[in-house]
Amino acid sequence: MTSRVGDFEMRLEHLRAALEAQPRVRLGAFPTPLEHLPRLSSTLGGPDIWVKRDDLTGLAFGGNKTRTLEYVLGALLLEKPDVLVTGANIQSNWSRQAAAAAAKLGIPIVLVLRNTEMQEIQGNVLLDLWLGADVRFVSEPDITFVIADHLDRVVDELRAQGRHALKIDPWSASAAVGYAAAVPELMDQCKAVGITPTRIWTAAAGPTQSGLLLGSRYLDWPVRVTGIAPIRWAGDTMATRTADSANLASGILGLSVTIADTDVETDEGYIGPGYARPSKLGLEAMRLVARTEALLLDPVYTGKAMAALIDQIGHGLITTEDTIVFLHTGGLPAVFAYRDQILEMATTSL
Ligand SMILES: *Cc1c(COP(=O)(O)O)cnc(C)c1O
Repeated sequence: MTSRVGDFEMRLEHLRAALEAQPRVRLGAFPTPLEHLPRLSSTLGGPDIWVKRDDLTGLAFGGNKTRTLEYVLGALLLEKPDVLVTGANIQSNWSRQAAAAAAKLGIPIVLVLRNTEMQEIQGNVLLDLWLGADVRFVSEPDITFVIADHLDRVVDELRAQGRHALKIDPWSASAAVGYAAAVPELMDQCKAVGITPTRIWTAAAGPTQSGLLLGSRYLDWPVRVTGIAPIRWAGDTMATRTADSANLASGILGLSVTIADTDVETDEGYIGPGYARPSKLGLEAMRLVARTEALLLDPVYTGKAMAALIDQIGHGLITTEDTIVFLHTGGLPAVFAYRDQILEMATTSL
């Protein structure tokens, strides 16, 4: 029998080689910083809290989609598209980082964005236009509907014009690879600062948590990965989608790890009024973190994830025995689209 340490080193080497073999485009600046939050930790009186700054991935205001896109686009570019198509909600961070990647790669991009409430051109969508994306709005009432039909229609239309149009799919087989690659990066940083995290805490709707789970399971890292849902998907549950995405990536990396739905720790209790609608707890969490650590969070994802952490510390579910790494997944441009709610919280007394 090989020793555990030897086994770990073999697995790490295998993971690194498997990642190295994946097609990839370089878009971000890695490693992102791992920072201590001592004032937040002492204010909450619970666990020691650290933040992994994936808001600082460096691609046009950054965010977690930079890691995802490095591998998703790496695979897609092998098919030599001359125009890219993707889309989501109007304040989509995915779409903004895709527009930035397309600009950097010199490939035109069409974004189909859901805008039902005549929302202001601000935040991410302003940047999409600035980065040169061809933005098309659709009015789609169901917020969990991924506008797949609209994307297909645009692809068909471009192909009829003789273009080689390809969709960038946030659920493609490579989607979780970027966050599997983030695991050894984070393990190295934890070792360097001398912490042994018990939990990785993140806003999660799919591939981010999938990759973190896959990487940590493969490397036998005894850390829990907790995902706080910003959205309740129609159809498949968050756990199923997350496990499926992890297993696709496991397959292409040849890791022989299977993630079951029951391995996915997901919490839908902090969505509040709905997807992309700020919650009071989320805004309060954003304000506390800004005023104790000068760390800026967003109201759609990271604010709600931080609200969940604060709430669960308050209820004694997370204690001084824990060490938390909060993954900052980005989303900051959207702050400016929520000016009214943020201004109201800024001026409400504590
Ligand atoms: C997209 C996004 C998430 C969720 O990422 P998944 O990979 O879909 O889990 C979390 N936070 C922010 C800021 C995002 O833009």
